[in-house]
Amino acid sequence: MEKEENTDPVPEQKTQEKQEKKGQDIEDLPGIGSATAEKLKESGYSEILNIAVASPGQLCDATGINEASARKVIQAARSMMEMGFESGTDLLERRKKVIKITTGSTAVDEILGGGFETGSIIEAYGAYGSSKTQIAHQLAVNAQLPISKKGAEGTVVYIDTENTFRPERIIQFAEGMGIDSKKALENIKVAKAFNSDHQMLLAEKIEELINKSLNVKLVIIDSLTAHFRAEFIGRGTLAERQQKINRHMKVLSKLADMHNLCVYVTNQVMAKPDTFFGDPTEAIGGHIVGHNSAFRIYLRRGKKGTRVAKLVDSPNLPENEATFNITEGGIKDV
Ligand code: ADP
Ligand code: MG
Repeated sequence: MEKEENTDPVPEQKTQEKQEKKGQDIEDLPGIGSATAEKLKESGYSEILNIAVASPGQLCDATGINEASARKVIQAARSMMEMGFESGTDLLERRKKVIKITTGSTAVDEILGGGFETGSIIEAYGAYGSSKTQIAHQLAVNAQLPISKKGAEGTVVYIDTENTFRPERIIQFAEGMGIDSKKALENIKVAKAFNSDHQMLLAEKIEELINKSLNVKLVIIDSLTAHFRAEFIGRGTLAERQQKINRHMKVLSKLADMHNLCVYVTNQVMAKPDTFFGDPTEAIGGHIVGHNSAFRIYLRRGKKGTRVAKLVDSPNLPENEATFNITEGGIKDV
């Protein structure tokens, strides 16, 4: 995962405290009047940090100020931000705040080092029917469980691009975990994304939900790549598609990082029966998605109706496999 935008050395709450103490507001930036500040806020640039990590072009688009002014504002925001490096000890402290959300299967949790981590993007890729969406539903319930039951006591944002979110299935999973299914449904904020631009916009809006004091601990995008794949067809459009996916991933990565939340994205792969060597499947979006995910899980059908999850390319965990079952009441060990 690229850390370029992870320039804030302290978690979000502390940053806010720090800014409040110093009375720092985006209106304190040179050249920012109240009208421009308002436009910036409307476009999601509500904090100094958002501006410090923006590109001049993004600010021009958002406010109509010229590029030279945008550069000045960004520079000023950066110097106000106390940007810097974190010591290994600070990072270890941050890692302690990571919450690991259970998948419902201890075998799968184990290969992930305990569960789906907050602060990370987890990508599940696999063929149709390999359980990507079932896992999304299960996590949407489990993220709400108390910490003591391997949940994150949080709200869930579910961006559905393939029209496969089923409230009925949430009820079954909630009952399986022994929690109130009405409350569970209430705690999942679902939005359908009609195309890739809509999907990207929705992801950018999550920040606002959090600022409205929703304790979002899990963001699901099922599927991350389907719209992109449908809209960008042919060789000529490949670079543009990858650039857009990359931008989308950056937004998600910033959310995960700044708000210590888990982002779960799915990626359907096509079986390539003509491949004789190596893995016969390949993830859409390829390395762009991979480079932005801390965890990649390859899902496939196993023997006797089971499913197999394989952890791929983890920064600190071995490549391991776990077999699990999808049952009426949830994801379970075999
Ligand atoms: P993907 O999103 O990877 O395409 P899904 O997560 O939709 O795949 O998995 C679909 C599979 O989940 C079905 O083939 C079925 O085996 C299983 N499944 C769906 N609902 C239930 C249920 N209520 N009980 C048991 N298994 C189920
Ligand atoms: Mg699916």
